[in-house]
Amino acid sequence: AAHGEVSLAQLPALTKRSFPLCMEHLSSKLHDNSHLKHQGRIQLGLFLKGIGLSYDESLTFWRTLFLKGMAPDKFDKEYKYNIRYNYGLEGAKKNYTPYSCAKVISTVPSAAEHHGCPFRTLSGEPLRAMLSRLSLKPTDVARIAAKAAEHHYQVACGLYFEARHAGSSLTETEMGGITHPNQYFDLSMKFYAE
Ligand code: SF4
Repeated sequence: AAHGEVSLAQLPALTKRSFPLCMEHLSSKLHDNSHLKHQGRIQLGLFLKGIGLSYDESLTFWRTLFLKGMAPDKFDKEYKYNIRYNYGLEGAKKNYTPYSCAKVISTVPSAAEHHGCPFRTLSGEPLRAMLSRLSLKPTDVARIAAKAAEHHYQVACGLYFEARHAGSSLTETEMGGITHPNQYFDLSMKFYAE
């Protein structure tokens, strides 16, 4: 999915406009709490790498938010390694790829964690409340929540994409729904480029 680099300055607008719900959710919890637990940092961190955020900008992103809640020393000692690791600069130095939907959906967060797929982890009223907060129409909220309740999370995500991108008809072309959070992002970028 080559679509050029994404800069830190673009991130707030792109988060609102083009992030799938799983990443929007992690990002909003990170902003609220100035912190994310390990699995959430990996899920969001690899996604950000996948959309083309550079290592330097990624470090600035995490550092700025975490430093609202902790001393720079602590961040550099305990959290910087993770970010370097995601970019293949530490440990096995592998080029780690962003998680697919199957992988995200299979992870189940504890109460203090926010990773995973919200269509699975927040089913029922919490999901409906979240979708309403994002200004989706009540008819869309009902349709999407119904698919999630049937455990068709990726189909629910496809319907969510359509609701957030007026005039798009994703389900006609991407029959089974969304398969990768970065695919969701790419489709959104394409939608706005056309
Ligand atoms: Fe994220 Fe995939 Fe779930 Fe959509 S279906 S919210 S892209 S994990």
